[in-house]
Amino acid sequence: MTSRPNGEPLVRLSGVNKWFGELHVLQDIDLDIARGEVVVVIGPSGSGKSTLCRAINRLEPIEKGEISIDGERLPDEGKDLARLRADVGMVFQSFNLFAHKTILENVTLGPVKVRKKPKADADKRARELLDRVGVSAQVDKYPAQLSGGQQQRVAIARALAMEPKVMLFDEPTSALDPEMINEVLDVMVGLAKDGMTMVVVTHEMGFARRAANRVVFMDEGRIVETAEPETFFTAPKSERAKDFLSKIL
Ligand code: ADP
Ligand code: MG
Repeated sequence: MTSRPNGEPLVRLSGVNKWFGELHVLQDIDLDIARGEVVVVIGPSGSGKSTLCRAINRLEPIEKGEISIDGERLPDEGKDLARLRADVGMVFQSFNLFAHKTILENVTLGPVKVRKKPKADADKRARELLDRVGVSAQVDKYPAQLSGGQQQRVAIARALAMEPKVMLFDEPTSALDPEMINEVLDVMVGLAKDGMTMVVVTHEMGFARRAANRVVFMDEGRIVETAEPETFFTAPKSERAKDFLSKIL
Protein backbone atom coordinates (compact mmCIF):
# COMPACT_ATOMS: atom_id res chain seq x y z
CA MET A 1 0.00 0.00 0.00
CA THR A 2 1.34 3.38 -0.95
CA SER A 3 0.96 6.18 1.52
CA ARG A 4 0.64 9.82 0.69
CA PRO A 5 2.05 12.53 2.85
CA ASN A 6 -0.90 14.85 2.41
CA GLY A 7 -3.20 12.38 4.14
CA GLU A 8 -6.02 12.79 1.66
CA PRO A 9 -8.82 10.26 2.13
CA LEU A 10 -8.36 6.87 0.58
CA VAL A 11 -12.01 6.75 -0.42
CA ARG A 12 -14.05 9.88 -1.03
CA LEU A 13 -17.71 10.04 -1.90
CA SER A 14 -19.01 13.49 -2.64
CA GLY A 15 -22.57 14.35 -3.54
CA VAL A 16 -23.30 10.77 -4.56
CA ASN A 17 -26.82 10.14 -5.82
CA LYS A 18 -28.30 7.05 -7.33
CA TRP A 19 -31.76 6.12 -8.52
CA PHE A 20 -33.30 2.77 -9.40
CA GLY A 21 -36.02 4.13 -11.65
CA GLU A 22 -38.09 6.37 -9.39
CA LEU A 23 -36.45 5.11 -6.24
CA HIS A 24 -33.79 7.51 -4.94
CA VAL A 25 -31.57 4.93 -3.22
CA LEU A 26 -28.50 7.07 -2.48
CA GLN A 27 -29.19 10.69 -1.59
CA ASP A 28 -26.40 13.25 -1.40
CA ILE A 29 -23.89 10.92 0.19
CA ASP A 30 -20.71 12.60 1.39
CA LEU A 31 -18.24 10.28 3.06
CA ASP A 32 -14.47 10.39 3.44
CA ILE A 33 -12.65 7.29 4.57
CA ALA A 34 -9.12 7.77 5.78
CA ARG A 35 -6.27 5.36 5.25
CA GLY A 36 -6.45 2.63 7.86
CA GLU A 37 -9.90 3.66 8.98
CA VAL A 38 -12.61 1.10 9.72
CA VAL A 39 -16.13 2.33 9.05
CA VAL A 40 -19.15 0.27 10.02
CA VAL A 41 -22.30 1.00 8.03
CA ILE A 42 -25.51 0.16 9.79
CA GLY A 43 -29.18 0.76 9.04
CA PRO A 44 -32.53 -0.80 8.27
CA SER A 45 -33.03 -3.20 5.40
CA GLY A 46 -33.47 -1.27 2.16
CA SER A 47 -31.65 1.83 3.40
CA GLY A 48 -29.03 1.61 0.64
CA LYS A 49 -26.07 -0.03 2.41
CA SER A 50 -25.40 -2.64 -0.27
CA THR A 51 -25.89 -0.12 -3.04
CA LEU A 52 -23.34 2.14 -1.34
CA CYS A 53 -20.78 -0.69 -1.26
CA ARG A 54 -21.52 -1.64 -4.84
CA ALA A 55 -21.14 1.96 -5.94
CA ILE A 56 -17.70 2.18 -4.33
CA ASN A 57 -16.35 -0.45 -6.67
CA ARG A 58 -18.63 0.59 -9.46
CA LEU A 59 -20.69 -2.58 -9.62
CA GLU A 60 -23.48 0.01 -9.67
CA PRO A 61 -23.19 3.21 -11.69
CA ILE A 62 -24.16 6.46 -9.98
CA GLU A 63 -26.13 9.23 -11.62
CA LYS A 64 -24.67 12.19 -9.79
CA GLY A 65 -21.62 12.93 -7.69
CA GLU A 66 -18.11 11.57 -7.56
CA ILE A 67 -16.30 8.66 -6.00
CA SER A 68 -12.53 8.59 -5.83
CA ILE A 69 -10.11 5.95 -4.67
CA ASP A 70 -6.70 7.12 -3.54
CA GLY A 71 -7.19 10.48 -5.19
CA GLU A 72 -8.34 9.13 -8.54
CA ARG A 73 -11.89 9.61 -9.70
CA LEU A 74 -13.68 6.38 -10.65
CA PRO A 75 -14.43 6.63 -14.35
CA ASP A 76 -17.56 5.15 -15.92
CA GLU A 77 -15.74 2.48 -17.85
CA GLY A 78 -12.50 1.42 -19.44
CA LYS A 79 -9.04 0.38 -18.38
CA ASP A 80 -8.71 2.87 -15.54
CA LEU A 81 -11.95 1.58 -14.05
CA ALA A 82 -10.66 -2.01 -14.11
CA ARG A 83 -7.43 -0.90 -12.46
CA LEU A 84 -9.14 1.13 -9.74
CA ARG A 85 -11.70 -1.58 -9.14
CA ALA A 86 -8.91 -4.05 -8.47
CA ASP A 87 -7.89 -1.80 -5.57
CA VAL A 88 -11.22 -2.46 -3.90
CA GLY A 89 -11.71 -5.92 -2.41
CA MET A 90 -15.23 -7.08 -1.76
CA VAL A 91 -16.68 -9.80 0.44
CA PHE A 92 -20.39 -10.54 0.16
CA GLN A 93 -22.92 -12.30 2.31
CA SER A 94 -22.82 -15.31 -0.01
CA PHE A 95 -19.25 -16.45 -0.37
CA ASN A 96 -19.38 -16.95 -4.16
CA LEU A 97 -16.36 -19.21 -4.34
CA PHE A 98 -15.79 -21.08 -7.58
CA ALA A 99 -17.30 -24.50 -6.84
CA HIS A 100 -15.14 -26.44 -9.28
CA LYS A 101 -11.82 -24.98 -8.21
CA THR A 102 -9.84 -25.91 -5.13
CA ILE A 103 -9.45 -23.50 -2.26
CA LEU A 104 -5.91 -22.68 -3.40
CA GLU A 105 -7.05 -22.11 -6.99
CA ASN A 106 -9.87 -19.87 -5.78
CA VAL A 107 -7.28 -17.60 -4.20
CA THR A 108 -4.66 -17.68 -6.98
CA LEU A 109 -6.99 -17.17 -9.94
CA GLY A 110 -7.38 -13.38 -9.65
CA PRO A 111 -3.71 -12.59 -9.01
CA VAL A 112 -2.62 -14.76 -11.96
CA LYS A 113 -5.32 -13.70 -14.44
CA VAL A 114 -5.89 -10.08 -13.46
CA ARG A 115 -2.71 -9.00 -11.68
CA LYS A 116 -0.53 -11.14 -14.02
CA LYS A 117 1.41 -12.54 -11.08
CA PRO A 118 3.65 -15.56 -11.77
CA LYS A 119 1.90 -18.74 -10.65
CA ALA A 120 4.57 -19.71 -8.11
CA ASP A 121 4.40 -16.29 -6.43
CA ALA A 122 0.60 -16.38 -6.41
CA ASP A 123 0.68 -19.85 -4.83
CA LYS A 124 3.08 -18.76 -2.13
CA ARG A 125 1.06 -15.66 -1.29
CA ALA A 126 -2.22 -17.61 -1.34
CA ARG A 127 -0.84 -20.15 1.15
CA GLU A 128 0.27 -17.34 3.46
CA LEU A 129 -3.17 -15.73 3.31
CA LEU A 130 -5.01 -19.01 3.79
CA ASP A 131 -2.80 -19.66 6.80
CA ARG A 132 -3.60 -16.22 8.14
CA VAL A 133 -7.35 -16.83 7.93
CA GLY A 134 -6.91 -20.27 9.48
CA VAL A 135 -7.73 -22.61 6.61
CA SER A 136 -4.27 -23.77 5.59
CA ALA A 137 -5.24 -27.43 6.11
CA GLN A 138 -7.98 -27.10 3.47
CA VAL A 139 -6.02 -25.79 0.48
CA ASP A 140 -6.62 -28.80 -1.75
CA LYS A 141 -10.28 -29.21 -0.90
CA TYR A 142 -13.28 -27.85 -2.81
CA PRO A 143 -15.57 -25.16 -1.37
CA ALA A 144 -18.47 -27.58 -0.68
CA GLN A 145 -16.18 -29.58 1.62
CA LEU A 146 -15.74 -26.57 3.91
CA SER A 147 -18.06 -25.06 6.51
CA GLY A 148 -19.71 -21.72 5.81
CA GLY A 149 -17.33 -19.98 8.18
CA GLN A 150 -14.32 -21.53 6.46
CA GLN A 151 -15.67 -20.58 3.03
CA GLN A 152 -16.16 -16.99 4.10
CA ARG A 153 -12.61 -16.88 5.43
CA VAL A 154 -11.40 -18.19 2.05
CA ALA A 155 -13.43 -15.42 0.38
CA ILE A 156 -11.57 -12.91 2.55
CA ALA A 157 -8.21 -14.45 1.61
CA ARG A 158 -9.22 -14.36 -2.05
CA ALA A 159 -10.02 -10.66 -1.86
CA LEU A 160 -6.77 -9.94 0.01
CA ALA A 161 -4.74 -11.81 -2.62
CA MET A 162 -5.50 -8.98 -5.03
CA GLU A 163 -3.70 -6.61 -2.67
CA PRO A 164 -6.58 -4.17 -2.40
CA LYS A 165 -6.21 -0.76 -0.83
CA VAL A 166 -9.63 -0.99 0.76
CA MET A 167 -11.86 -3.91 1.68
CA LEU A 168 -15.65 -3.76 1.55
CA PHE A 169 -17.67 -6.28 3.53
CA ASP A 170 -21.41 -6.49 2.90
CA GLU A 171 -23.03 -8.40 5.78
CA PRO A 172 -20.27 -10.99 5.72
CA THR A 173 -21.66 -13.03 8.61
CA SER A 174 -25.39 -12.85 8.07
CA ALA A 175 -25.59 -16.11 6.12
CA LEU A 176 -23.56 -18.01 8.70
CA ASP A 177 -24.63 -20.33 11.48
CA PRO A 178 -24.17 -18.52 14.80
CA GLU A 179 -21.21 -20.62 15.92
CA MET A 180 -19.25 -19.58 12.84
CA ILE A 181 -19.79 -15.86 13.09
CA ASN A 182 -16.96 -15.15 15.49
CA GLU A 183 -14.31 -17.01 13.52
CA VAL A 184 -15.02 -14.69 10.60
CA LEU A 185 -15.27 -11.55 12.74
CA ASP A 186 -11.97 -12.43 14.41
CA VAL A 187 -10.25 -12.48 11.02
CA MET A 188 -11.78 -9.08 10.24
CA VAL A 189 -10.69 -7.65 13.59
CA GLY A 190 -7.16 -8.90 12.82
CA LEU A 191 -7.23 -7.16 9.45
CA ALA A 192 -8.41 -3.94 11.08
CA LYS A 193 -5.60 -4.13 13.63
CA ASP A 194 -3.10 -4.60 10.80
CA GLY A 195 -4.22 -1.28 9.36
CA MET A 196 -6.47 -2.32 6.50
CA THR A 197 -8.94 0.33 5.40
CA MET A 198 -12.37 -1.24 5.70
CA VAL A 199 -16.03 -0.48 5.07
CA VAL A 200 -18.16 -3.06 6.84
CA VAL A 201 -21.92 -3.37 6.57
CA THR A 202 -22.91 -5.33 9.64
CA HIS A 203 -25.24 -5.32 12.60
CA GLU A 204 -22.63 -7.02 14.77
CA MET A 205 -22.19 -4.51 17.57
CA GLY A 206 -19.35 -6.52 19.05
CA PHE A 207 -17.37 -6.06 15.87
CA ALA A 208 -18.17 -2.37 15.69
CA ARG A 209 -17.07 -1.86 19.28
CA ARG A 210 -13.87 -3.87 18.83
CA ALA A 211 -12.75 -2.60 15.47
CA ALA A 212 -14.63 0.40 14.11
CA ASN A 213 -13.38 3.96 14.22
CA ARG A 214 -16.75 5.25 13.07
CA VAL A 215 -20.29 4.08 12.67
CA VAL A 216 -22.31 5.47 9.80
CA PHE A 217 -26.06 5.09 10.22
CA MET A 218 -28.10 5.07 7.00
CA ASP A 219 -31.83 5.35 6.52
CA GLU A 220 -33.79 5.79 3.31
CA GLY A 221 -30.70 6.39 1.20
CA ARG A 222 -29.17 9.02 3.44
CA ILE A 223 -26.42 9.13 6.00
CA VAL A 224 -28.43 10.20 9.04
CA GLU A 225 -25.76 10.03 11.70
CA THR A 226 -22.02 9.43 12.04
CA ALA A 227 -20.39 8.76 15.40
CA GLU A 228 -17.82 6.74 17.28
CA PRO A 229 -19.20 3.28 18.06
CA GLU A 230 -19.53 3.73 21.80
CA THR A 231 -21.34 7.04 21.36
CA PHE A 232 -23.59 5.68 18.65
CA PHE A 233 -24.68 2.61 20.58
CA THR A 234 -25.11 4.29 23.95
CA ALA A 235 -26.29 7.76 22.95
CA PRO A 236 -27.60 7.91 19.37
CA LYS A 237 -28.74 11.40 18.45
CA SER A 238 -31.37 10.90 15.79
CA GLU A 239 -34.82 9.46 16.46
CA ARG A 240 -34.35 7.12 13.53
CA ALA A 241 -31.16 5.64 14.98
CA LYS A 242 -32.80 5.30 18.41
CA ASP A 243 -35.74 3.51 16.86
CA PHE A 244 -33.48 1.21 14.82
CA LEU A 245 -31.27 0.33 17.77
CA SER A 246 -34.29 -0.40 19.97
CA LYS A 247 -35.29 -3.06 17.44
CA ILE A 248 -31.94 -4.80 17.09
CA LEU A 249 -30.41 -4.58 20.55
P1 ADP B 1 -29.69 -2.48 2.08
O1 ADP B 1 -28.43 -3.15 1.67
O2 ADP B 1 -29.51 -1.38 3.05
O3 ADP B 1 -30.73 -3.47 2.57
P2 ADP B 1 -29.99 -1.98 -0.74
O4 ADP B 1 -28.86 -1.11 -1.11
O5 ADP B 1 -29.88 -3.43 -1.09
O6 ADP B 1 -30.33 -1.79 0.81
O7 ADP B 1 -31.32 -1.45 -1.42
C1 ADP B 1 -31.74 -0.10 -1.33
C2 ADP B 1 -33.05 0.04 -2.07
O8 ADP B 1 -32.83 -0.15 -3.46
C3 ADP B 1 -34.11 -0.97 -1.69
O9 ADP B 1 -35.35 -0.33 -1.70
C4 ADP B 1 -34.00 -2.02 -2.75
O10 ADP B 1 -35.22 -2.67 -2.92
C5 ADP B 1 -33.63 -1.20 -3.96
N1 ADP B 1 -32.81 -1.93 -4.94
C6 ADP B 1 -31.65 -2.55 -4.70
N2 ADP B 1 -31.14 -3.09 -5.82
C7 ADP B 1 -32.01 -2.78 -6.81
C8 ADP B 1 -32.06 -3.04 -8.23
N3 ADP B 1 -31.07 -3.69 -8.84
N4 ADP B 1 -33.12 -2.57 -8.91
C9 ADP B 1 -34.11 -1.88 -8.30
N5 ADP B 1 -34.14 -1.60 -6.98
C10 ADP B 1 -33.11 -2.04 -6.25
MG1 MG C 1 -27.82 -5.12 1.83
